[in-house]
Amino acid sequence: MEVYPQTLMEFENQFATEEACRLYLEQLRWPDGFQCPRCGGTEAWRMSRGLWLCQGCRRQTSVTVGTVFERSRLPLTLWFRAMWHVTNQKNGASALTVQRLLGLGSYQTAWAWLHKLRRAMVRPGRDCLEGIVEADESYLGGEKPGKRGRGARGKALVLLAVQLQPGNKIGRIRLAPVSDASGASLVGALETMVTPGSEIKTDGWSGYNDLASKGYRHTVVRGSGEIGQDLLPACHRIASLLKRWLLGTHQGAVRHEHLAYYLDEFTFRFNRRTSASRGKLFYRLAQQAVHVEPAPYAKLIRPNL
Ligand SMILES: [Zn+2]
Repeated sequence: MEVYPQTLMEFENQFATEEACRLYLEQLRWPDGFQCPRCGGTEAWRMSRGLWLCQGCRRQTSVTVGTVFERSRLPLTLWFRAMWHVTNQKNGASALTVQRLLGLGSYQTAWAWLHKLRRAMVRPGRDCLEGIVEADESYLGGEKPGKRGRGARGKALVLLAVQLQPGNKIGRIRLAPVSDASGASLVGALETMVTPGSEIKTDGWSGYNDLASKGYRHTVVRGSGEIGQDLLPACHRIASLLKRWLLGTHQGAVRHEHLAYYLDEFTFRFNRRTSASRGKLFYRLAQQAVHVEPAPYAKLIRPNL
């Protein structure tokens, strides 16, 4: 059953103590009862301070081991407030805001927390698009427009995939940084974002030529040659929302090597934009956070190492 607070008051009441937060995470991680992360055993003794002792392998563990919250020296009550804040703001939160709000000692901690949470926002391979999907690339950052297929100095290239609903309404999206606009990069990324058998609409760029051989129905949208004609309107809409968000909430201060995480956060929020309750976003984030491997700080700073 999905239990989550609807309002700030409910949140404060529900998660006032460390134990309440821990029990909530246990429900999310082990909905069918305890399972040992090492041996998979289900018999365990509950010890003090949230520890479990597995009867199978005798290992001590806790609900935070192997999750986003592993090794954090700060209380779960603070983590919960960070998750609530990030999911309740329409545009998310910057590290500076979270640091101030929670009274965290360092900006670095707030920054690392937000990145750890972003890693829990999109589950690779799970949230694939299907049906009819529009795909296009867009350059982020930098002053001058970039040239297609060649890259442009100071810019990051992002691949956008947008699922179309009846009436060409925008459905769910997936975003990924790509190193260039070659076929290997574009089609390779689309394979992780879109279920085979779906229809993918692109413009006539040669980088998309291999889609058909990878099991997609590939439709090339051809223009009439009119100036300013928008061939892929859903992608362009998403690109402009994304740029506005990066400039607004994060003031454009996003480094290229971290871009993937910001794209995940944007995607997480966008794909749940019609969700009636912000509490449900909080629930979803907490649920995914206990199913994601922990990321050491060094890995957050340099994800490509
Ligand atoms: Zn065990």
